[in-house]
Amino acid sequence: MHPVGVVGAGTMGAGIAQVAALAGHEVRLHDTRDDAANGAVDAVLHRLARAVDTGRLLADEAEDAAARLRAVRTVDDLAGCGLVIEAVVEDLAVKQALFAALEAICGPDTILATNTSSLSIDAIADGLRHPGRVAGMHFFNPAPVLPLVEVVSGTSTDPAVTDLLAETATAWGKTPVRAASTPGFIVNRVARPFYAEAFRMLSAGTVDAATADAMFRESGGFRMGPFELADLIGHDVNLAVGRSVWTAFGHDPRFEPSTLQAQLVAAGRLGRKTGRGIYVTDEPRPEPSTAAPVPPRDDAWAGDGPRDQTAAGAVHWQVGTADVRLRPSDGRTAAQLTGGGPATVVVADLALDYAGATRIGVAAPEHAPREHVDAVVGYLQGLGYAVTVLPDTPGLLVARTVAMLAAFAADAVDAGVASAADVDIAMRLGVNYPLGPYAWGAELGWDWVAGVLDALAADDDPRRYRVSPGLRARATVTEPVDELEGEP
Ligand code: NAD
Repeated sequence: MHPVGVVGAGTMGAGIAQVAALAGHEVRLHDTRDDAANGAVDAVLHRLARAVDTGRLLADEAEDAAARLRAVRTVDDLAGCGLVIEAVVEDLAVKQALFAALEAICGPDTILATNTSSLSIDAIADGLRHPGRVAGMHFFNPAPVLPLVEVVSGTSTDPAVTDLLAETATAWGKTPVRAASTPGFIVNRVARPFYAEAFRMLSAGTVDAATADAMFRESGGFRMGPFELADLIGHDVNLAVGRSVWTAFGHDPRFEPSTLQAQLVAAGRLGRKTGRGIYVTDEPRPEPSTAAPVPPRDDAWAGDGPRDQTAAGAVHWQVGTADVRLRPSDGRTAAQLTGGGPATVVVADLALDYAGATRIGVAAPEHAPREHVDAVVGYLQGLGYAVTVLPDTPGLLVARTVAMLAAFAADAVDAGVASAADVDIAMRLGVNYPLGPYAWGAELGWDWVAGVLDALAADDDPRRYRVSPGLRARATVTEPVDELEGEP
């Protein structure tokens, strides 16, 4: 097995070195700061020892991996490596200088991979004699734990190189996805609305953070809500990624990050690492807004109720009595759906699947009779849900975010960033989404996705919520787009 060089012994380099050593490679770890490289080796050995103590690793596996890992003092010591992975600071000039030095040392067959999160592979390979051997191998933090690796091709990258990197990632126990070198690759591009929509609603006073996070977990099926996740990632890191993608897209309003998040960063409220972000780390979280118990009315509710809806794309059910009806959001507000009709229409926010959800968010027209709202709340509580009454805004909270995520996934596929399957794998493994956003969009129906965006465009910023031509085409055809593409 060929030796692997890792350059940059910070958070990512140390993690990548650990993964490669455990997979059986001799690993040479280099950093311009010797203490960083030695410290990273010590940190890896400590982690291996802990894995043995907790029964996750056999003692001889840890010893073998430790024996294969060493810090080296100069870049020259990387001569003879079959693969070198760069994980130095996110600075194009530094990376270009390093790759030029590596090219002078390593033979033409050595693959040079970069762990960059945001820089263009073409820009990093620019000026090299053999740019075909340069590709992205983008691990996620913590690299020893998270399974996803984005294997990123620049325009000059030799396909045999990305094939080898994907095989290597698999051999290291990771799941590779293929991406073209475009801003944010897959995860950092498609995930943007998860944070941006939540911050937009928080800024507008539509929802408080604890309620939003509870809705995403207990209704949307996400492992973490957007605010608690951004607190964990760090608002500085999250905002820097958002800004870099936004800048790379020429300040397209679709990608615009939140000014509220920028204010948090300016105030040093970076999240858990500073003890304070959206939440104060050591204080109990505020309780989500939950309707107080309402006794159910004893009239019959006709139609399919939410507990009957086991599918992720179930957004066409409706249940009601003579004077009040409940249906999932399609982007239109409860006031629009009620119109001048005889019954009050209450809209439900999207759930991953309504049968399994433990919380439902609902919105009624602003001037709806109190007893109509109570009737819905009592009915849903009777089915065992916690109920959150939300302001009557287009797409409420989860529906508008999932619609945007699905639209971003479709746009990434149309832009040739990755296949729909790889977009979905990346989002499930890279950021733990309960369902890939492309598959989710297809299940909800692309007409539903486009409808929610249209409603947001009419109410808010038409450029931010514009429906791309590819999404519009999906929304207006009934056949799967893949089949249409094959037709003459
Ligand atoms: P870090 O700051 O923890 O570590 C960077 C290391 O590189 C430092 O130890 C520094 O001394 C060293 N270094 C700087 N210039 C060097 C050079 N010319 N030669 C050798 N070593 C040099 O950074 P990190 O968080 O590990 O990120 C490294 C790379 O990985 C960046 O490109 C980043 O965008 C990317 N990345 C980071 C994350 C993350 O969550 N931290 C996730 C995925 C990718």
